[in-house]
Amino acid sequence: MEISFTDFVVVGGGVAGLRAAIELADAGQVTVLTKDALRDGATEYAQGGVAVALADGDTPAAHRDDTLEAGAGCCNAGAVDVLVNEGPERVRELIDWGIHFDLDLGGNLDFTREGAHHHNRVLHACGDATGREVERTLVAKVRTLERARRLPHHYSLGLVVEEGRCLGVWLVDQTNGRERLLLARAVVLATGGVGWLYRHTSNPAVATGDGLAMAHRAGATLRDLEFVQFHPTALHLDGVPAFLISEAVRGEGARLLNQEGERFMVGRHPDGDLAPRDVVARAIYDEMARHDGRPVFLDCRHLGAELLPKRFPTIFEACRSYGIDMRTQPIPVAPAAHFMMGGVVTDLDGATDLPGLYACGEVACTGVHGANRLASNSLLEGLVFGQRAARAILATEVTFPTLRHAGFYEPPAPILEIDYVARQEQAREIMWEYAGIHRTAEGLTAADAALRALELPYQRYPADRLVAETGNAIMVSRLICQAALARTASLGSHYRADAVADQS
Ligand SMILES: Cc1cc2nc3c(=O)[nH]c(=O)nc-3n(C[C@H](O)[C@H](O)[C@H](O)COP(=O)(O)OP(=O)(O)OC[C@H]3O[C@@H](n4cnc5c(N)ncnc54)[C@H](O)[C@@H]3O)c2cc1C
Repeated sequence: MEISFTDFVVVGGGVAGLRAAIELADAGQVTVLTKDALRDGATEYAQGGVAVALADGDTPAAHRDDTLEAGAGCCNAGAVDVLVNEGPERVRELIDWGIHFDLDLGGNLDFTREGAHHHNRVLHACGDATGREVERTLVAKVRTLERARRLPHHYSLGLVVEEGRCLGVWLVDQTNGRERLLLARAVVLATGGVGWLYRHTSNPAVATGDGLAMAHRAGATLRDLEFVQFHPTALHLDGVPAFLISEAVRGEGARLLNQEGERFMVGRHPDGDLAPRDVVARAIYDEMARHDGRPVFLDCRHLGAELLPKRFPTIFEACRSYGIDMRTQPIPVAPAAHFMMGGVVTDLDGATDLPGLYACGEVACTGVHGANRLASNSLLEGLVFGQRAARAILATEVTFPTLRHAGFYEPPAPILEIDYVARQEQAREIMWEYAGIHRTAEGLTAADAALRALELPYQRYPADRLVAETGNAIMVSRLICQAALARTASLGSHYRADAVADQS
């Protein structure tokens, strides 16, 4: 197999990977791999904004308190301190690099509020296309850096590990099917989340949990995989993708209504429609269960015909393309798998317990989100911990690796005659049904057994993205089920319907 070298390899071109790459390019050649085109991750789809304590009267301490409260007592307080204290500097830097956040009429940064925030601290761009603007800014910055190399359509199949150290990645160039080893002084995993493991998700199709699977196979520790956040309000129409309707819409005053037209969140939680995501998602789940699976509605009609297309142009257009005019019609919505709070365990500098391997962004678990992520904290997480991981790598003396063993030179495994797409779809149904918003020991046990039966019979994958994604998705789905089984009490986003009395 061909072997090539780079100083640093970053797997993933979202906010976390790009922020890390920008820092690393100061010190050597950095190669950024993405599965599809460069802007293919969840970052591009982020709507609501970036939470950061920069508004008058707001403080990092207040941001910290809201983050800890949302995390249901499970956050790593040290990680939260890093996030809220370093966040303002990272966002100012983004402004210096040319990001256009929306401004108020006085020309000042316009801060909005989302669920479980007790201050207006969410910066947004192009109304509701914040992620697109973040990604645009970072990609533009990367393009100015001579030593940053982008490899779109390069799929990472696994990590190269020898004698307890990660030496690089094994990848396939999807444009010609050629596999090779890319060895580096350090590997940064920034592969994003797992939403695609669920039947209904707000995530793009690249979110199949590859990074978690690669790290797990390589022996790095994963944690908190039971904490999957379900966004309460994704568009729910037959045959239409679960397009996200940002929480910022409720932040601006939109109301949730059930099939009878009642405001079912009133009285259910002191924050009503802006209650924490898990609370709202469960309330919607209950309403849908009472109404044969029919969705609830997000009513924006009272917000004014002018505000909606201006403040939420992306959502407005998406709804309109599916025949819903949010100025005059309530939007049918239902929950969708959205964000993984757990991940590859790292310290506050992105280091995993596998030397040479770092992780940042959604694939990592610093403990910053605890059992439930505060809205709009993840773009900030990518900026803060992407930069820290890179800084830590640069502070470590590491030599170029030498590959001693020839294990990777085996002839490629044959692609077996299996309907991989059908297996993925079966697994996604199982996860939605049994490892979703309501979980029980019985359901999780059955799910794990059913997923085991779907596992692929490979010792080593052939160099094929679909095969590897299917194998990874099933592996990570099983890990989620097992983590959810092990946590017998409900906590944050993890709801055990058979152990409600244990809620802590
Ligand atoms: C619809 C939506 C709205 C959101 N809104 C907000 C918001 O308003 N505010 C907020 O803070 N957060 C929001 N989030 C969450 C946030 O967008 C993500 O958590 C964050 O962008 C993740 O960034 P990342 O860099 O970790 O990964 P991503 O941006 O997901 O990027 C992952 C990258 O890894 C690459 N990759 C994965 N596996 C492989 C592989 N095997 N080989 C090669 N490359 C690989 C992918 O190609 C991709 O480039 C939203 C998410 C969604 C889906």
